[in-house]
Amino acid sequence: MSADLSHAQHTKVLAATFRGLPEHRCGQNCIYSLADGAWAAFIVFFNQARCFLERRRDASRPHGRANAAGLFGAHKTPSDPQIRNLREPLAPEHWYAPFHTILQRLKVGGYLQPYQAFANNLLVSLDGVHYFASTAMHCAQCNVTLRDDQTYYSHAALLPVLVAPDNPQVISLEPEFITPQDGATKQDGEQNAIKRWLARNAARFQPFQVTILADDWHSKQPLCALLRDLHLNFIMTCKPDSPPTLYEEVALLEKLGAVAHRTLRHWNGRFYECWQCRYVNQVPLRTGAAALAINFCEVTLTHAATHERLYHTGFGTNHLLTPDTVKPIIQAGRARWKTQNENHNTLKNHGYHLAHNYGHGHQHLATVLIVLNVLAFLLHTVMDLTSEKYRQLRQELGARMTFFDDIRTLMRYLPFASWENLLDFMLMGLGLSPG
Ligand SMILES: [Zn+2]
Repeated sequence: MSADLSHAQHTKVLAATFRGLPEHRCGQNCIYSLADGAWAAFIVFFNQARCFLERRRDASRPHGRANAAGLFGAHKTPSDPQIRNLREPLAPEHWYAPFHTILQRLKVGGYLQPYQAFANNLLVSLDGVHYFASTAMHCAQCNVTLRDDQTYYSHAALLPVLVAPDNPQVISLEPEFITPQDGATKQDGEQNAIKRWLARNAARFQPFQVTILADDWHSKQPLCALLRDLHLNFIMTCKPDSPPTLYEEVALLEKLGAVAHRTLRHWNGRFYECWQCRYVNQVPLRTGAAALAINFCEVTLTHAATHERLYHTGFGTNHLLTPDTVKPIIQAGRARWKTQNENHNTLKNHGYHLAHNYGHGHQHLATVLIVLNVLAFLLHTVMDLTSEKYRQLRQELGARMTFFDDIRTLMRYLPFASWENLLDFMLMGLGLSPG
């Protein structure tokens, strides 16, 4: 596997997947290929266009056509309804291969090393997000709930990411969608989606040591036992009510003097925090002889100067807690918040418009659009990790929106032979030398 992570190589990886999409049309006038439809949708997300119509207009102009070919190898741009019809019957699984290829290339290129946090483990955060809700529009994949005689349709997905305590970027992994069969509650839906994601991906992560991060809903015996059986480590948020047996046992052990305490100082870049930690190993997760024993730690953070209480939480883990490991394990557990801040927030509120309705369809359209959107986010993250030119531009232009506005405008008015050519032009225009 090559470590080439250039835009040109990404284009080849995506092109191979788009060319391999199974043809579902028969006897129709197939002016456009499935790959044409895939590229047309992907470029909308890659360029953070506001709608398919804006992209269609750009693609119909001479420089728009030339840039679609030069930068993406795309040749024809179907209309908005045609794009939707081309993708509608194709389940999300058909679009996952680029996530795997890019992860392998990141590994070969050494870019995953900064993500190998505590005990050389990759931290995989598994968190769900709701991205669609309606009382009218719906499809076969919608989750349906009834409240006050009103039917609500919604979509949610598990968007797994690699996180690291000291790394602002999160690396998107293949998503898993929460289906109507996964149960009525958010908790059941996420747990079943996690099980499916693990069934598909656990073997893929075998060459690595992996720690799964998840919230307190999942700090229960069935998932912890499944992770143990799959040789995956875990750090789960634990709140007093989930699971209560764990906290009751810790309270008992505390009375017996079996719980260790440790106070640490931590510089967060702005001020010193005081970390008051307590921890104990081998606590049963539930009652009964078959209970799985896990290790538990709890931390209270205060401002070292003002003594203001900043944060309090507990974690359950299979990693052994010692005076040396308790801090890095807490740091790894806290890295899960990056899923909300760096992943969900960016996807929803900073250009990728995750919750925007680009089209719903009747079968898989709504889910496939999310896969392409997350894939576009991944490719930009990879460029941020691997391209000095990309980092220079993003830093110089400040807001993410400015960067993408400029890209779309330039592609509208000027032809570029390649993505590198476009980045060089932007750097030169800003008086910066290519890195
Ligand atoms: Zn739906």
